[in-house]
Amino acid sequence: MKAARFDYLRPGDVGEALAALANAEGAKILAGGQSLGPMLNLRLARPALLVDISRLKALQQLEDAGRTWHIGAGVTHARLEDARGRLSGGEMLSEVAAAIAYRSVRNRGTIGGSLAHADPAADWPLALAALGASVNVRGPTPRKILVAHFIQGAFTTTLAADEIIESIDVPKLSRAGRYGFYKFCRKTGEFAEASAAAVLDPETGVASIFLGALRGIPQPLTSLAQQVAREGKIAASTEAVSQALAQSVSGLDAVEHSMATAVVTRALMQVLAP
Ligand SMILES: Cc1cc2nc3c(=O)[nH]c(=O)nc-3n(C[C@H](O)[C@H](O)[C@H](O)COP(=O)(O)OP(=O)(O)OC[C@H]3O[C@@H](n4cnc5c(N)ncnc54)[C@H](O)[C@@H]3O)c2cc1C
Repeated sequence: MKAARFDYLRPGDVGEALAALANAEGAKILAGGQSLGPMLNLRLARPALLVDISRLKALQQLEDAGRTWHIGAGVTHARLEDARGRLSGGEMLSEVAAAIAYRSVRNRGTIGGSLAHADPAADWPLALAALGASVNVRGPTPRKILVAHFIQGAFTTTLAADEIIESIDVPKLSRAGRYGFYKFCRKTGEFAEASAAAVLDPETGVASIFLGALRGIPQPLTSLAQQVAREGKIAASTEAVSQALAQSVSGLDAVEHSMATAVVTRALMQVLAP
């Protein structure tokens, strides 16, 4: 099938993109097109106007901002993958990026597009929630919101029709900080069936574990994270993880529960590896 007819605009800056969103009914942002493209062709999306932000320089920054990495919404997965070894305190970003789909998708798909799309099985919503990252939103009233609060459900965020994700701020891990990211996919390059991200940083006090893909939004396992931070390996056994999931994530069936236990345990094994 082919996309329904739409108008196309390539704005010169973010202000022009925002004006187009505010003034044209049925306008939609186009970034890497890796999710929107298929939706257009299947006619699941029928925007009147596509506002192509993929060449806006202002959305391409990848900057060391001291305690955080400041990442423009238009930064591609491939760019983060290729920054491996140069993102001190943000090493997890390169690792997560490199495991998204395959290179042709990573060459065009963007971190901002992934967050805005909010696919429950996507990797950035999960990883960025675990890292405590925030989304900088531009619109009539600029705002900053934690990724964990930005994603509200499957394919649902707090983003309004006249807003754009401008950038993401990702807190750096200290030298003592450790992370784990594990996803279970049936085939390489496919979306995850189940995924988990864990971050422990004794210097900054961060302790977070999130389960991905099995529910509409990344599911926090806060008590388990705090217990692992206090007690280490003993609190990260398969039994402990299974119990924590039963208490924290409702409605998993037996297969989902065992996949969830496996991915969370493996993410924790990465965090706690000597
Ligand atoms: C074959 C295939 C396999 C994939 N596998 C994975 C995978 O394993 N893991 C994974 O995480 N992802 C996967 N993806 C998705 C991929 O990561 C997409 O790139 C991403 O979800 C969307 O990013 P995009 O830049 O292409 O956004 P687009 O497709 O251009 O846009 C997606 C949505 O976000 C909106 N949008 C985009 N940018 C902004 C912005 N800055 N502000 C506001 N709204 C915005 C658009 O309006 C649209 O609604 C896969 C995609 C394909 C095609």
